[in-house]
Amino acid sequence: SNRIMLGPLVAAIDQGTSSTRFLVFNAKTAELLSHHQVEIKQSFPKEGWVEEDPKEILQSVYECMDRTCEKLTQLNIDISNIKAIGVTNQRETTLVWDKETGEPLYNAIVWLDLRTQSTVERLISKTPGRNKNHLKHKTGLPISTYFSAVKLRWLLDNVDEVAEAVVTHRAMFGTVDSWLIWCLTGGKSGGVHCTDVTNASRTMLFNIHTLDWDPELCKYFDIPMEILPKVRSSSEIYGLMTSGSLTGIPISGCLGDQSAALVGQMCFQDGQAKNTYGTGCFLLRNTGAKPVMSDHGLLTTVAYKLGRDKPACYALEGSVAIAGAVVRWLKDNLGIIQTSTELEKLAASVGTSYGCYFVPAFSGLYAPYWEPSARGIICGLTQFTNRSHLAFAALEAVCFQTREILDAMNQDSGIPLTQLQVDGGMTSNRLLMQLQADILCIPVVKPSMPETTALGAAMAAGAAEGVSVWSLRPEDLSEVTSEKFEPQINPEESEFRYARWKKAVQRAMNWET
Ligand code: ADP
Repeated sequence: SNRIMLGPLVAAIDQGTSSTRFLVFNAKTAELLSHHQVEIKQSFPKEGWVEEDPKEILQSVYECMDRTCEKLTQLNIDISNIKAIGVTNQRETTLVWDKETGEPLYNAIVWLDLRTQSTVERLISKTPGRNKNHLKHKTGLPISTYFSAVKLRWLLDNVDEVAEAVVTHRAMFGTVDSWLIWCLTGGKSGGVHCTDVTNASRTMLFNIHTLDWDPELCKYFDIPMEILPKVRSSSEIYGLMTSGSLTGIPISGCLGDQSAALVGQMCFQDGQAKNTYGTGCFLLRNTGAKPVMSDHGLLTTVAYKLGRDKPACYALEGSVAIAGAVVRWLKDNLGIIQTSTELEKLAASVGTSYGCYFVPAFSGLYAPYWEPSARGIICGLTQFTNRSHLAFAALEAVCFQTREILDAMNQDSGIPLTQLQVDGGMTSNRLLMQLQADILCIPVVKPSMPETTALGAAMAAGAAEGVSVWSLRPEDLSEVTSEKFEPQINPEESEFRYARWKKAVQRAMNWET
């Protein structure tokens, strides 16, 4: 048959909170050639708990790889052209497994999980001045249920198998990237136990200045350092695939999903920013070689380090826990829509929330509040309110939350963003994009190739030393085509709605105290 000659290809595993994808790009043009996606089950064993099955996650990766390779073969594309694989993943989600058996010792505790709320409150109450930012000078993060250290602490305290495996030196801790790379590079027979600086910077055990695990932080959370993975850069060969149709191909890129999106959107310059709308919503602004500490509730995080000898770049980040998750909730819990795409039609049929405000603080509130005791609230209901208004209010909530973090970002940096680059699963919702432009009063710009997170991971993998099929030199980066949504309502109207939203947020705060 006629094989299509394309030159080198680079693949990416994108293991997100709601689904896993495997995607293959042309390294010369950044064109997406083929992909496959599998949804991931989430379990909610108790109120506030969110878990996923590590083996299902791994299986989904293999399934996506196999199906994508089949599709490529059908397209007459030779899979031996795949020169490298990058990994990008849901961040903070915490796993512990047994290195002898290769078996997970508990489900993955997902970043959204709230089971550590009382631990967090206890930790904060013990700090001088009840200061949740007590560890921020080293970590860039407030003490919160969100980060891995407290989840790991919970596993050590509450799961006998985990505690036992620590005593017998069989325990390995990792975020999803570490779990996948370890399994794909051989698992119990010689898998590589590593993570990259971006994922490590979300654990609260990592010093973002020295770029290494911090003994003092580990002591603070009483975490044995021997269970931690080795920290590597985001772009280097970690190991080779040991099974399946891609055996022998190097895994050479690793970035937390939000960092990967920043790279995929080509935000390499100080001041450039992107907002990704997935399960949650994450606005990151590149601050260059220096970590900038926020005075307005944002996180300081490692953005990327694209090579062992390359400098680390940092970002300010505003994290919103619930964005697409509210759509899933309307579908799975209330049943007012059958599919997430239906939401747009429903909301568009009314074009207003009719004064209804929905603060989806299901997991407390993240940036800029960091209030674990906040809970969701729907207010402003009247006899007239129906499910369409509720759908609209849910979309508006995502936009208001973004407005709050954008305001914080502008205050911290002193230089307001003049437009917002966006990506993520929710951006296929055009009404949401228009609403976002209206509520921010600046244009919203969406790339036509929506898989920017995977693209970023592929770029990191393809650029790694020893692979070198993808150039990250500014002059070699391909021009991105995009679509622009301009603000269409007047700023007074926008301010009025935003002020109402702020009132609703105040009612959602301190719900449990
Ligand atoms: P993640 O990386 O967190 O897994 P994705 O970027 O894949 O998330 O986006 C999936 C999320 O986007 C889901 O929570 C889903 O509810 C939401 N979503 C997908 N399509 C739409 C749509 N058309 N309108 C609103 N929300 C959507």
